[in-house]
Amino acid sequence: MVTALYRRYRPETFAELIGQAHVTEPLQQALRSDRVNHAYLFSGPRGCGKTTSARILARCLNCAEGPTDTPCGTCPSCVELSRDGGGSLDVVEIDAASHNGVDDARDLRERAVYAPARDRYKIFILDEAHMVTQQGFNALLKIVEEPPEHVKFIFATTEPDKVIGTIRSRTHHYPFRLVPPAEALSYVEELCSGESVAVDDGVLPLVVRAGGGSVRDTLSILDQLIAGSPDDRVTYDRAVTLLGYTHDELLAEAMTALASSDGPGTFGTLDKVMHTGQDPRRFAEDLLEYVRDIIIVDAAGDAAAALMPGSSEGALDQMKGFAHTIGTPRLSAIADVVNDALTAMTGATSPKLHLELLMARLLVAGSHRQPSAPATRPSVSTAPAPGQASVPAPAAEPVAPPTGPVEPLTMAMMEASWPAILEAIGEKKRAVWSAVTGTQIVSLDDDVVTIGFPALSGADVLKKAQGPGLPVNAELVRDAILGVTGHRVRFKVVELPKDDTEDVVSEEIAPGQPEKPVAAEPTETASWPTVVPPGSESSTESQAEAEHSPPEDQPVEDIEPPINGLSQVGEAVIREVLGGELISEHRVDDGEVR
Ligand SMILES: [Zn+2]
Repeated sequence: MVTALYRRYRPETFAELIGQAHVTEPLQQALRSDRVNHAYLFSGPRGCGKTTSARILARCLNCAEGPTDTPCGTCPSCVELSRDGGGSLDVVEIDAASHNGVDDARDLRERAVYAPARDRYKIFILDEAHMVTQQGFNALLKIVEEPPEHVKFIFATTEPDKVIGTIRSRTHHYPFRLVPPAEALSYVEELCSGESVAVDDGVLPLVVRAGGGSVRDTLSILDQLIAGSPDDRVTYDRAVTLLGYTHDELLAEAMTALASSDGPGTFGTLDKVMHTGQDPRRFAEDLLEYVRDIIIVDAAGDAAAALMPGSSEGALDQMKGFAHTIGTPRLSAIADVVNDALTAMTGATSPKLHLELLMARLLVAGSHRQPSAPATRPSVSTAPAPGQASVPAPAAEPVAPPTGPVEPLTMAMMEASWPAILEAIGEKKRAVWSAVTGTQIVSLDDDVVTIGFPALSGADVLKKAQGPGLPVNAELVRDAILGVTGHRVRFKVVELPKDDTEDVVSEEIAPGQPEKPVAAEPTETASWPTVVPPGSESSTESQAEAEHSPPEDQPVEDIEPPINGLSQVGEAVIREVLGGELISEHRVDDGEVR
């Protein structure tokens, strides 16, 4: 019969307590300078050392050499209060979960009156203090407020908010916290070598992760693994199956398949995962964690090893490889998709189905990373509405190269990146962000993105300058798109159809205009900024349209002052707004931002 690890390794001094320096240092200082309060409140998540600290504090206070910040360990009090000791008469531990009533509080009050039997103080440790009833606290109030000289109180609780305010205000409150993974990891590493237990690479990070920052939980898990392993050797396979995590190899396999948009590979891996009996939600969580790790490795570069203690060199190299082939924008998009799917899986009747759909979505999100430029190019040019078919041609060549990502921008990529783009905008300027929230990508025509606004007036803010002498807000949107997708685009705005597009358009078009049908095009209402050179097939149509239909989708580029009254119809307005130049080929090129 072996005592549990967490009991054998229960700290006996503050120095042995890990991850709580923010609490133990001030406490030790108070002990050294003899400024110990009469009541303490230790709060924090379970298993992070509250009760242990209360015992250590009691030990420090009652040590024959004390009060001291480091108990001597040899005096009768220290021996009694050590981890193997039987407990001291003067240190009373009360489990408030079962002694929470008024009678218990009165009993405690009576006991507090008597002087300590041998040591300096009579110390009451109330564990699970939040369980004490209101009446119980009220009965304690007087003695906690003005205790006899020889009495100290230590309340330990996971829920400090439930300890009544009148008690809390009479205590010194020390919030304990979960132990950071790095500290927990080096602690269990030391512990394993102390116990002469060999563990495979990658086991201890799993143990720490499963422990969730609670030292007690972490040690219990390690204890279980050691107990179930022959020859004092904990293997990765055993740990990963026992703890229910997804094997790293399976995660890497899934990532490889996703990176190459390999459908059969992806679902083959998924099948394997399901055959191991893995919980779909757990797999999605592990995948998200893995993607996060890759993003960190990518962002951190050489510092990655320090940021991810416990990861082997091989694992780091593999992640670097993924980061390189997949690229940050897509990794970020994958993380978003997985995260959303995880939310949807909560309480879902068929999480497996959700997981399969998730993988399908990840594959689709992946397709645009394929270096299949020739394949996507034609599909883009066939996409535009019939009336616009010839539009992309003139702008295509000059615009594409500058920032130089190889793969072309696709509608799917644009749509997938839109939330991230909005977020990037939000980080720069809230006002612009709130204007573009709720918008959606209507279409992508070569390098011209059409953004649909619920109301066109919402786009007005884009025409305003970012500040005196600064470019307009629209630049900010363009920069965000560049930042996320790697593509420098132009964009135009349209009003999203509400119930009936006709309504919106017909209001503004002068009755009887023959060109009306063009403007009534559902998605691409009008499009003067992308107009083709004069003389080409659609130029007359576009010109006519520009002359007669309202510039409801005027390009936001180059428009310095906020413009109101745009809904007026007419060439004069366009001239005024756009600097006296009606649409022309050179206008479009000039307007491009490189
Ligand atoms: Zn002592």
